[in-house]
Amino acid sequence: MKSLVVRKMELGPIGTNAYLLWEEEGREAVLVDAPPGCAEAVEPLLDSHGLVLREIWLTHGHWDHMIGAADLAGEGVEVLGHREDRILFEQPAVMANFAMPGLDFKPIGISRWIEEGDELELWGRRVAILHCPGHCPGNVVFWMEEERICFVGDVIFAGSVGRADLPGGDFSLLERSIREKIYNLPSETALLPGHGPETSVSAELRNNPFVRP
Ligand SMILES: [Zn+2]
Repeated sequence: MKSLVVRKMELGPIGTNAYLLWEEEGREAVLVDAPPGCAEAVEPLLDSHGLVLREIWLTHGHWDHMIGAADLAGEGVEVLGHREDRILFEQPAVMANFAMPGLDFKPIGISRWIEEGDELELWGRRVAILHCPGHCPGNVVFWMEEERICFVGDVIFAGSVGRADLPGGDFSLLERSIREKIYNLPSETALLPGHGPETSVSAELRNNPFVRP
């Protein structure tokens, strides 16, 4: 099996991580999260590697993770998200009070709803969907067991956790998601979050001050 390339890009006005995935010598790419204006970073990468965008996986419906998706979505591009964030995907301006002025709140139509227990296939690799609400009702994480990586959005960060004080947030639910889902992944799993640096399950089990195992 060819190796998987994971290219991290920190984009948009509040530094949101998006990850472009492709297989070495492959022709297709998948984007995890779509910050505002991400097309300007993603399109040149696609061109220079001869890739076609096949899917956009959205970890949740907050504007800083999805309002760039409309510029990249289109025929042949599937957009995946969880139904509990439907209102945020379809009417992202409901969160305008929590964003800076001047942003273009472009809605995105989800073409494939995903939920706990679903499994995706990525060039011969399994991707498990875990529903991890608490930061947002529709937070999902994308776990690739063989690659030992998990894209966690804003559920957990290096030494921190997602905000639970925004509309739809619930700290006790977030705690439960982290304890029961994230902390139960194999400890060597790398956690690729929506903001800041990469971490791992073992590092957070040892050091995370907000949610203790
Ligand atoms: Zn968020």
